[in-house]
Amino acid sequence: MDAHGAVTELMNARGHEQVVFVADAPSGLRAVIAVHSTALGPSLGGIRFWRYPSERDAVVDVLRLSEAMSLKAAAAGLDQGGGKAVVLVDDPDAPRTDALLRAVGRAIDDLGGRYIAAEDVGATPHDMDVIASATPWVTGLDGPGGSGDPSPMTAYGVVQAMGTVLDELDGDASLEGKRVVVDGVGHVGTHLARLLAAAGARVAVADVNADRVDAVVHEIGAEAVCVDDVLEEECDVLAPCALGCAVNEKSIPRLRCRAVCGAANNQLAEPDDDDALAARGILYAPDFVVNAGGIINLAEEFVGYDRENAERRTAKIAGTLRRVFEVAREEGLPPGRAAEHMARLRIAEEGAGRRFRPGDPAPWTNGEPLRSLRPS
Ligand code: NAD
Repeated sequence: MDAHGAVTELMNARGHEQVVFVADAPSGLRAVIAVHSTALGPSLGGIRFWRYPSERDAVVDVLRLSEAMSLKAAAAGLDQGGGKAVVLVDDPDAPRTDALLRAVGRAIDDLGGRYIAAEDVGATPHDMDVIASATPWVTGLDGPGGSGDPSPMTAYGVVQAMGTVLDELDGDASLEGKRVVVDGVGHVGTHLARLLAAAGARVAVADVNADRVDAVVHEIGAEAVCVDDVLEEECDVLAPCALGCAVNEKSIPRLRCRAVCGAANNQLAEPDDDDALAARGILYAPDFVVNAGGIINLAEEFVGYDRENAERRTAKIAGTLRRVFEVAREEGLPPGRAAEHMARLRIAEEGAGRRFRPGDPAPWTNGEPLRSLRPS
């Protein structure tokens, strides 16, 4: 996204509906909430606490992240849009005051359900509880009606996607005997490694945090590989599960995998990296299709959280990815671009001219106005 130009120009360039700047002098809060699209339903996305070099960087980030949430929700077949909030902090690891968090909650509340929040980078469960004391428009909490930690569902979705990847490569979706390298064994990566091992894959893991690697090696008998060379490991599938941009101009020539399919957001440093992977004959499973289990799990709260239903809907990632590969072939596009094209088409066709307003019925409320998501 071009970082220059007025905020409204940036919004128009990417189709954002609304950006709210939030300041609360008594608590020192500085935040930006971006609603990219509510064409398919209320926007959903996490609250990120981050130290940005400048306010402009924060705006560019929240615009980019909220748009990505629209694409992810649309690709997952969810009736919701994309939004995101960023809170500008000096130290993301330092505890936040309750006054600041309640001010975040009030700002979300003012949007009347147009933006529904969840946890993101830097946010703690305590932060989310305090924010939720000021607004009902928060998902992913523990307790009654809450869906809790999304990472097991995200990992489950990645495994479903990997089946489709292997089927595309070999005409056989089985993970048995396949070598899968999991780069990053945090919340999602650890669950993923467990599920892969249970499915008979030969699992190798790497992380900058050696304790996490040791724990997974100990628990499931995974092979530990050096984090500096992890991208050069010969394997059937490389699963990036750490930070973004693992696939880039420098790493692509060194990759020795047959496919890339993992949980990390923004795995490609540049959109053209999609073409570069295709040119090397490496199959790329678009990250926002593969890692949608987390948002599918959150969305299940809207209709009364049920884990089995969430799992059933997450399993559909396999079919969605199959369709992405088909469209890629039909249109002569690399898979990332094909997935984006499909998501944008759904927003344009199903959401044409629609915009969610406070008090409107949501697609899942049977004509009733959208009310608090949590049981009172
Ligand atoms: P996490 O912070 O729990 O785990 C990330 C792990 O990556 C940590 O163990 C960290 O030590 C490791 N790491 C950091 N830098 C690394 C590097 N250079 N090389 C190797 N390892 C490195 O995060 P998470 O919740 O497991 O999420 C992982 C990724 O998946 C993130 O990109 C996240 O945005 C994405 N994602 C997560 C979810 C979810 O449900 N948690 C949903 C969708 C997408």
